[in-house]
Amino acid sequence: MNKVASILVHRNVPTHYSYSLENGAEFSVGEHVEVPIGRSNAKGVIVRIDDENEIEKPSYTLKAVLSTVQKKPILSQEILNLIQWFSDTYLISPFQAYQCIIGNIKLRKDWNKSAEFGPEEIPHHPNKEQLDIISAICDTSGEEHLIQGVTGSGKTEIYLQVAAKHVSENKGVIMLLPEIALTPQMRQHFKKRFGSQVAVLHSNLSVKEREIEWNRIYHGAAKIIVGPRSAIFAPVENLGLIILDEEHEGSYKQDNQPRYLAHSVARFRVQETGSTLIFGSATPSLDTVIAIKETGNHYHLHHRVNQKPLPKITLIDKCDSLINDKSSVFSQVLLDKLETILSKKEKAIILMNRRGFASLIVCQKCQKVHTCPGCDLSYTYHKSRKFQCHRCHTTAPITHTCSHCGKNTLAFVGQGTQKVEVELQDLFPNAKIIRIDRDNTKKESDLTESLNEFETNADIMIGTQMIAKGLHFEDVTLVGVLGIDTTLALPDFRAPERAFQLITQVAGRAGRGRKEGEVVVETRQMEHYAIACAQHHDTMRFLNQEAQFRSELWYPPFCELTSIIMSCTNKGQLATYAAQIKQHLNNVLPEVPREVEILGPQAAPFEKIKNHYRFICLIKHSKARTNDVRLALQALPPHPTSLRCFIDIDPRSVL
Ligand code: ADP
Ligand code: ZN
Repeated sequence: MNKVASILVHRNVPTHYSYSLENGAEFSVGEHVEVPIGRSNAKGVIVRIDDENEIEKPSYTLKAVLSTVQKKPILSQEILNLIQWFSDTYLISPFQAYQCIIGNIKLRKDWNKSAEFGPEEIPHHPNKEQLDIISAICDTSGEEHLIQGVTGSGKTEIYLQVAAKHVSENKGVIMLLPEIALTPQMRQHFKKRFGSQVAVLHSNLSVKEREIEWNRIYHGAAKIIVGPRSAIFAPVENLGLIILDEEHEGSYKQDNQPRYLAHSVARFRVQETGSTLIFGSATPSLDTVIAIKETGNHYHLHHRVNQKPLPKITLIDKCDSLINDKSSVFSQVLLDKLETILSKKEKAIILMNRRGFASLIVCQKCQKVHTCPGCDLSYTYHKSRKFQCHRCHTTAPITHTCSHCGKNTLAFVGQGTQKVEVELQDLFPNAKIIRIDRDNTKKESDLTESLNEFETNADIMIGTQMIAKGLHFEDVTLVGVLGIDTTLALPDFRAPERAFQLITQVAGRAGRGRKEGEVVVETRQMEHYAIACAQHHDTMRFLNQEAQFRSELWYPPFCELTSIIMSCTNKGQLATYAAQIKQHLNNVLPEVPREVEILGPQAAPFEKIKNHYRFICLIKHSKARTNDVRLALQALPPHPTSLRCFIDIDPRSVL
């Protein structure tokens, strides 16, 4: 009897295509094949095989599958299901989903050439807190867990021991990290424990390296995969455990198409395979905290392993007269403390969440702000003697002439990391200062180098949020947090959460060694709950307060959120299309309070980027209405090619 194969053809088409498999032809599900399409041939993957008489007979004669593509892997049913789910969830074609999950991988013969090596480190004897959590997790299977533990409380040791249990049962483990820069450290931890069974996947690998790692996983030689977001797609056989460390980090969301969230992909994979899922963080996201409520598997590690207390956090009121001099970035309190620790040969970290020298270029005569014409946003002055737009990254020559009134009165005000650096160097000429931000840290090796330099040879490290996470330095006893008000002021419902996390994370860098540490936060919003809770290390109070606000206003995680972003150089065209979207949604997705609520379309908070005006439409909906929303989005009215429109399922930013 003839069979019919459904094929995911490597073309951007919305559905699978059917082909016939001639009598006796040996093809299997998951195999890559060559098929005729139109007048040419294409590659594709067999996603299903049916007996001819089991399915509805098509009205046309099916073409036959031509041949097997030998160089390509055979995809497991689990991966095929993942591709299907991914394409459905993120409203992309099956082939786009395939490209994101599998990419252009080839089978290789040389995947097992590298030397095998065994473990070289024995596990720590877990303390009582750790042991309770390890047992609780290992006693369950197919459940989600959240480990909320302050920095240095021994979460990594728990990951390693739970992973060891799964590996001993011949199960696969995926260990996700938020940042490539943090991968080497964690990879070392895992390699020391598990030897050559560890594979690493990340975007800095060469094609060959990536293919070899992929093949090692595919052939079952590597059972533990360590990597950032995209490692969630690793073709692990017999998956048993997925861990997301620092789960609150924004980098778990891909910020270009397809805009997936690693958490969601992880949830799908563990549900399909009955695996265990662990989230870990010192400052878990409200999304994960609420999701975990259903299972009750929320554990706490209250103490650092070395019993070092968490640093004391002092708030400095920026409105207050304590600020010694209006033009200075620093309060007298912070300066005094800096002086003290420097005299003791200890180190300090200063967080300044904005790069550049001066973030506002404004005319002192006519008050007009000197903006990037493409984005209508003030240029930032950089020490390289350039203006740069921090939205579109274009630069402009420096000038003191106001384009509005023509006077030579442009002033460079506002602060950035470069200004902090210059001021500090002035105040402490003998201190060795390292600055880390995107301007001088383009590659992973730049970061490693600067961090090493700080550890061995410098006194103060200034940086943007790049320096807030995961780092361990013995001698840091003072952390200063500047400019947190900017983070708090972003018109995004997650702004307080980000500010809280940022303060807590960077504070966690202080006092990790023998000496106690302390933290100074300069703010104009002393009473804000995000700041006040951070001051007292009170993550649970923050989360409760945040939950209350979000549930009152019906924001995630109490509703599902989808955004539609439209952009166009022509404002009129944009408004016309926005009106069409509004009409369409009114028709097919009428609003019902707490079921479907639609905000906009309206001008986005970032109204213009690179000459493109932007509109945003937010659809808040209940889980029960997800499918209706999906159908409405699939049927969006067509837009002119000059207009860009994309859908973000579960956006992490609404700017
Ligand atoms: P976290 O991941 O929560 O920041 P880590 O797991 O990295 O914390 O632990 C912090 C430090 O404590 C590490 O140097 C680790 O090797 C050590 N450590 C963890 N658990 C134990 C333990 N049970 N006994 C002794 N040292 C431990
Ligand atoms: Zn710009």
